[in-house]
Amino acid sequence: MKQTNNSTQNPIFPQGDKANPDYFTGNAWVKLLVSENEFNSIIGNVTFEAGARNNWHTHPGGQILIVTDGIGYYQEKGKPIQLIQRGDVIKIPADIKHWHGASKDNALTHIAITSATPKGAVDWLERVTDEEFNSYNQ
Ligand code: MN
Repeated sequence: MKQTNNSTQNPIFPQGDKANPDYFTGNAWVKLLVSENEFNSIIGNVTFEAGARNNWHTHPGGQILIVTDGIGYYQEKGKPIQLIQRGDVIKIPADIKHWHGASKDNALTHIAITSATPKGAVDWLERVTDEEFNSYNQ
């Protein structure tokens, strides 16, 4: 994994398994921390290499991201990309189309707390194009 000035050399959680390439562009890893449980949540630690991101998607019950390392992007459909970084907490309402990942030049690690509902936890959509990914304006 590419290390940056904002990346710790001593991650809290193991890197886990390579993320499903059907739903991720670039190199990303997922470590399941708590599988679907009596609190109706699924908790995972996700690590994105610089430039890596997930597809556009929605969560039927919403999601909370806790950024623990690095610098990345979060975008809701129809809105500009937001820069996210270590210490940020992002609340994603149910059924809002969005994506998240690393920034162009920095890796990102976040904890994802996703509501598990009878309609599932995530609905994957199309890939985030390079044009979309590179649309961040500093
Ligand atoms: Mn999400």
